[in-house]
Amino acid sequence: MKHLLEHYSEQLDQLKQQGNLRQFTANVQQDRYITIHNHKMLNLASNDYLGLASNVHLREQFFDETPNAHRWMSSASSRLLTGNFPEYEQLEASLSQAFHGRAALVFNSGYHMNIGILPALADSKTLILADKLIHASMIDGIRLSTAKYVRYRHNDLAHLVQLLHKYHDDEAFERIIVVTESIFSMDGDETDLAELVRIKKQFRKVMLYVDEAHAIGVRGEQGLGCAQQYQVMDNIDLLAGTFGKAIASVGGYLICHPIIRNYLINAMRPLIFSTAQPPICMAWTDFIFKKVLNLKAERQHLQQISQSLQQAVQARGFDCPSSSHIVPVIIGESNQTVEKAHALQKAGFYIMPVRPPTVPKHSSRLRISLTSNIGQEELHTLIKQLMAD
Ligand SMILES: *Cc1c(COP(=O)(O)O)cnc(C)c1O
Repeated sequence: MKHLLEHYSEQLDQLKQQGNLRQFTANVQQDRYITIHNHKMLNLASNDYLGLASNVHLREQFFDETPNAHRWMSSASSRLLTGNFPEYEQLEASLSQAFHGRAALVFNSGYHMNIGILPALADSKTLILADKLIHASMIDGIRLSTAKYVRYRHNDLAHLVQLLHKYHDDEAFERIIVVTESIFSMDGDETDLAELVRIKKQFRKVMLYVDEAHAIGVRGEQGLGCAQQYQVMDNIDLLAGTFGKAIASVGGYLICHPIIRNYLINAMRPLIFSTAQPPICMAWTDFIFKKVLNLKAERQHLQQISQSLQQAVQARGFDCPSSSHIVPVIIGESNQTVEKAHALQKAGFYIMPVRPPTVPKHSSRLRISLTSNIGQEELHTLIKQLMAD
């Protein structure tokens, strides 16, 4: 055994030397703050973009409204066996209603969703065209599928069109699935969804698969994502997202045609072979989702502080591709990035360094995640601190 462990231990040492070793950190959270080793900091690393996960009043209200008889903490089976509690049907009905009556299907997590959809829908007669920077979960989905895939340069829709011209009339392919995110996790930049839909309409074999993990709750009049913001909600064949970020819960969802929904129920392995989430999670997601539809002021405030921060970061000469509440400060080398993150943490701002392999080599960065419960004043203090050397 010992000689077998050596290999792994060497790998860990190497990661540590490169400044790329990952570890869990014990923490205590309260409201917008996170305390680590007795040091209390403003939390700028969470995906709780609307501040709903940290809101204790919402929890109180939810439990007051939910009698004990309905507080099922386990579904004890997959949805296809006995796990399909009324809470599932209710959440999917709410989603469907919000998304113009299209079909909705929920999953245990966004990760389950993305590793399951493509292997189910994409066979050897399918070509997948994917943005270079899509989330690891979608990459894993592509790898698990038997489809051929080609990646296009990040956010380069002209490159996508070139590839479509190249492959569209190839008889080997009956369908082409274009895979992207709306707001990207690491750069905070976004795909031009209106243009993407316009492109799709010119190629009859194309289906669009868009992951709105970072946009749901945050964008659009009712928070239904960039698809709502750019008025293309009905034109994205596979409109996906997660509940674990702004929706303050856990799970993934897909908005699609009812035929696709039925097909996935029959073919999608992470849905079929995994115990469904506890019904209480579904009830909570539904409770939060309905509230999020009305949080327009919070969304506007988040947009405002995001723009202030983007401008400040750019003014200092940092490369900042963001047009959203995810604002990276790209520093380059890992060790230097880690140092800067520690300095900010010391000053009371919990900002995490993001390093390879999560981002490309030499693009290590501070990833600042703004949430709508951060005030202008705190933002100014943060900006001052960021600019200090
Ligand atoms: C976070 C994220 C996921 C994973 O969702 P979980 O619900 O956390 O498993 C999937 N896609 C994107 C783009 C994400 O940012």
